[in-house]
Parts: sequence; structure tokens; C-alpha cells
Amino acid sequence: MRLIILGPPGAGKGTQAQILVEKYGIPQLSTGDMLRAAVKDETDVGKRAKAVMDAGELVSDAIVNAIVAERIGQEDCANGFILDGYPRTLAQADATEAMLAERGLELDAAIELQVDDKVLIGRIVKRAQEAKATGESVRKDDNADVFEERLREYYKKTAPLIGYYYARGKLHQVDGMAEIEEVTADIEKILRQ
Ligand code: AMP
Repeated sequence: MRLIILGPPGAGKGTQAQILVEKYGIPQLSTGDMLRAAVKDETDVGKRAKAVMDAGELVSDAIVNAIVAERIGQEDCANGFILDGYPRTLAQADATEAMLAERGLELDAAIELQVDDKVLIGRIVKRAQEAKATGESVRKDDNADVFEERLREYYKKTAPLIGYYYARGKLHQVDGMAEIEEVTADIEKILRQ
């Protein structure tokens, strides 16, 4: 099964992807996590991406497309994967189609988590507080100022993907304001169809 989880920052993409990993035994491919690992390891990609990520802007399509193309070729992706935070631009969506077509594969579904903008910032602040409380490192972009930019980037560059997948008959919309378990149940219902 090959899935895309779409939605603004704080919509719960990562949370749902992690739950689905457990249930379906396929990996979660989070470009945000991969980029943060590259920043931490100070790789060439990490050095190029750091300032852009800290500002809440999108890293170039060329960088993320290359990361994903490499990742989906790995053995643990043979039975499918959940893309979390990728694609985020129309160019990335086209690249995804091309990567899959090259392997004779197709996307099963793009699931959009719909969440009221007003609750998103609250979730981001909470995530930062929780990370701090548990001694984890707090994401530099999980704060009110950078969040504004992340949301702007979402509307400008990522929201058009909703139309893109709708036009291809792949879009499924889920109420991301519901409890975590309910959101998961809604997603599972879609996947069973
Ligand atoms: P995330 O963890 O998905 O919120 O991503 C954190 C940051 O990583 C984003 O604000 C971007 O700077 C960068 N990033 C993650 N995924 C992508 C992507 N698909 N395209 C461009 N930039 C990305």
C-alpha cells in the first residue's frame, strides 16, 4: 500500500503515519525527519537545508525528490510506504508519480487531514512544550513566528495538491479535528474500500 498523508503543519500527519506503520507494517517516510537527521549529521544536504527549515520555508524540490527517490528504492519499501510531509509541491507530486511509474506502481490514496487553522498553532506550541518536558530537543520551527511562515508555505505550495489528487480520483478527506483514534478509524475505513 502506498499512501500520502496531506495536511498543514500540526494536522497530525506524523501521529497518524506512526499508527499506520504499526498496523500495516510498512515504513513511514517523513521528509521532515530525514532532513532533520541530515541537519544533525551535518551532511551536505543538511547544511543546505538548515537555514531554510529554520525559517519555515520549503527545501528545494531537487533535494527532497532525490532523498525520496533513494529511500523508496530500499528493501523495506517493497510492500509499500506512507509518505508523511511529501509531496509538498506540484513538482514533487509529479516527481512522485514518475518515481512510482518507473517501478510499475501507483499511489493508492492521498489522505487529507482537515484541521481548523486556529487549532494548529495550539498543537504546535503543545508539541514544543511536551518535547521540552520529556527532555527531547525542541524543533526550532515549532514556535509561533515560524509557524506563520510554515502555514503560508502550506497554502501557497502544498494546498494545490488537494486539487491535484482530487482530479486523479485519489483524494480522501478526513476530519483531523476528531480524537486520534477516530481519525485512524476513518483512515482505515478508506483503506478498506
Ligand atoms: P515537517 O517535519 O514535515 O514539518 O518538515 C519540517 C521542515 O522540513 C519543513 O518546514 C521544510 O522546511 C522541510 N521539509 C520537509 N518536507 C519537505 C518537502 N517535502 N519539501 C520541502 N521541504 C520540506
